[in-house]
Amino acid sequence: MIRNHIARDFLDVCKRLYSKGFVAASDGNVSVRMDNGKVLCTPTGRNKGDLKADDLVLIDMEGKVLDGTSQPSTEIQMHLLYYKQRPDVRAVVHAHPPYCTGFATTGEGLTGCVLPEIVVSLGTIPLAPYATPSTAEVPESILPFVNKHDVIMLRNHGVVASGSTVLSAYYALEKTEHAANILFIARALGGETRLTESQVRQLKEISSGSYGIDALSKPSCETANSADNARFSSASQSSLELKEHIRRAIKDLRL
Ligand SMILES: [Zn+2]
Repeated sequence: MIRNHIARDFLDVCKRLYSKGFVAASDGNVSVRMDNGKVLCTPTGRNKGDLKADDLVLIDMEGKVLDGTSQPSTEIQMHLLYYKQRPDVRAVVHAHPPYCTGFATTGEGLTGCVLPEIVVSLGTIPLAPYATPSTAEVPESILPFVNKHDVIMLRNHGVVASGSTVLSAYYALEKTEHAANILFIARALGGETRLTESQVRQLKEISSGSYGIDALSKPSCETANSADNARFSSASQSSLELKEHIRRAIKDLRL
């Protein structure tokens, strides 16, 4: 029998995915590996916002249905790959959040060291090559990344996130979408700047030492290069120029 708190958190995550617009219609899928090694997952073809505990499907590690009236999600092999490769992973969430998926269609993962929170919690989010959804190509496409990365973007498709609980997997996905949203805004304002290598080192040391976050083991993101530095200095110059214009305008008003 499914323990109440697992079903409660599971259904809570399903509702958040739909209400936040991270999935549309019947998109996306969620699973949890339980203490007995069996996996609880979303049924195929259902809206995540409407699910009840009785709708969930219990399967074994090969995807065989053990309990439930529906078939499991067609992407369940992607979840099972995470469980087989990573003993620490107990939950997997897959969705199509718009900003992340937008970047995934352009062929860009979130690999730059831009936001301190992402640098210490996820490190970097790679982009797996395109694979036809619901086929064995999908787990094959993420295989090179699963051991090191908690979150992977799927080319022209979406995002898969993992965690030690269903809520932590969901939060990893939410953080990634938030970072993609910020990066989108930064690009509209002229482009982001990356943190330097020494800034990233300091950040990871402080996070590991003071906050107990295992930041040093996270996969390394790409630090600032000369192009970033040039953009940063030109942005600073523009800011100085703007201040000079304002100073002159104030002076003119006083005349
Ligand atoms: Zn999908």
